[in-house]
Amino acid sequence: MTDRPPPLSTLGPTPLTEAAFRRAIGAVDFEVDARYAWDTGIAVSEFLRGLRRGVILARECRKCRRVLVPPRMFCEQCFRPTDRWVEVADTGTVNTYSICHIRWDMEPLSEPELPAVIEIDGASRGIGIMHKLGQVDPDDLAVGMAVEAVWAREEERTGSILDIRYFRPRQARLRSGPKRPGGRKRSGQSRKKPVGGSV
Ligand SMILES: [Zn+2]
Repeated sequence: MTDRPPPLSTLGPTPLTEAAFRRAIGAVDFEVDARYAWDTGIAVSEFLRGLRRGVILARECRKCRRVLVPPRMFCEQCFRPTDRWVEVADTGTVNTYSICHIRWDMEPLSEPELPAVIEIDGASRGIGIMHKLGQVDPDDLAVGMAVEAVWAREEERTGSILDIRYFRPRQARLRSGPKRPGGRKRSGQSRKKPVGGSV
């Protein structure tokens, strides 16, 4: 049947000009002045206050004996409230990481960002926070790498996750001097550590 119109799905979208968009039926000219308040809740509020003091706080559930960070007031395994605040270390182990060469808007980065999930020492196994890694060559990154928090100066802390600027390797693989783009493998022995490697 050649006289049948093509299905709508093959026609594709019809882009509007800016002027056509503003003249469109239903269009209104209105400047939005939306304001909102956001509450971090009991557990994360205390966690952020802890960061301002330079400590990482967790919640412990006495029933399953887990130590949870970021803290939460309810244990999702035991279906009961958690019991007490505990201070955990500002060191940990890289659980997983990514090497990002582009920004969220697809712009290339001259220096890759290194987001990672870090299991915090003193929290239960497999529990930790997402943060950034720094002072490390991307080639040297490994699951199981022992890391430590690099804190913002006390007077600069605001009660934000960025009061920890980033985590860096604990051992002698700190990068000194100007940063260089990732990619080139340094010579020398492997700096990788096994999964769950000891500190
Ligand atoms: Zn529990």
